[in-house]
Amino acid sequence: MPGIIGGAHVDGLQSLRVLQDVGELGREQVDFIGSEIEMRQRGDSLHVGTGETVGHGHDPSIVTVGNRMRERRLCAGSGTHVRSLGVPRSLFGRPRVEVEAALPDREPVDCPLCGREPRQFGVDFQGLQLARCRSCGLEFQHPRPVFEQLADAIYTSDYHPAGHEAVDRDRERTFARQMERIERYVRRRPAALLDVGCGAGAFLGYARGRGWEAGGTDISVTEAARRHEARLWQGQLPDIDFDGARFEAVRLNHVLEHTQDPLRELCQVRRIVADDGVLLIGVPNIAGLSIRLKSWQSRLGLKRRCWKHYGALHHLWFFTPLTLAALVHAAGFTVAHWETPTEARPRRYGWMRALVGRPLEAARMGGILDLYARPR
Ligand SMILES: [Zn+2]
Repeated sequence: MPGIIGGAHVDGLQSLRVLQDVGELGREQVDFIGSEIEMRQRGDSLHVGTGETVGHGHDPSIVTVGNRMRERRLCAGSGTHVRSLGVPRSLFGRPRVEVEAALPDREPVDCPLCGREPRQFGVDFQGLQLARCRSCGLEFQHPRPVFEQLADAIYTSDYHPAGHEAVDRDRERTFARQMERIERYVRRRPAALLDVGCGAGAFLGYARGRGWEAGGTDISVTEAARRHEARLWQGQLPDIDFDGARFEAVRLNHVLEHTQDPLRELCQVRRIVADDGVLLIGVPNIAGLSIRLKSWQSRLGLKRRCWKHYGALHHLWFFTPLTLAALVHAAGFTVAHWETPTEARPRRYGWMRALVGRPLEAARMGGILDLYARPR
């Protein structure tokens, strides 16, 4: 039977193992095997099967949930939140057979701009299929894994690794670059900013520090994000009811390439962004020089893991400055500015950045595409 623990949906549940904290005695293991497992949240505790209670008071317990795909560990901490500790082994870099076992169902996708069926141009090392629209050139996965299986296999609440809320020098440089540009368009304070796909909330904290009223959305809102005093919404952006809320700035940084339908996302942004506001989209730039070289290597069969640089396990869409501008325009925006920063590298590669990165940025061939657009 399907069960729901906290925000985690568990299909095909067959067994449940509870490692219950029993103070100084350590952990005691309780196994529940069979199809008649019942779990329900009551008050601040999680009730399991035969009336056992875990996760109340201050004793955190580990709950292992086994389903037909794999085991998943869930931690029932104190209070009502039950936090997923994640899938033991990530699918990233795993062989094709494992990916197909975890993501067995595929769905066809037409170009959101033209409504046309695209033409396949490659299959990556994990068996994921890459296609390009014959009319506008937009690239995306087709057919692609279905959302429910992706969400279950990839977007668990540990997708944002521990420590991701920390802001190192490279991230701070990215935040500052993006915020300085946003603030050229929106000068007044206080003003509202929405960070779509806010993850661990690092940017929410940064924006608050610069006087913004920050809010965020994510498919799975993390505990780390909750620690920022920000308004948070859970779910896919087009499905969220913002109840009339408007934002002077909306940021989708490395989000759009993960969404089900980027045009639907941007149309929702158009509804919630203030008329004098600004939209920032950051995505990988597949027209960047390094990505182009790797694509040619993949086409010629020179790469052991072909098309790995597309990141198709979690990226469903692949943008160039041209195709992203076409999408933004179709959603009711005009492009105000775009640039192609080179990827943040550890500081010891600073000379490399000066030698290679700067000329690439000047030629607009960097690996990242940051595009700023305003409602029209
Ligand atoms: Zn198209």
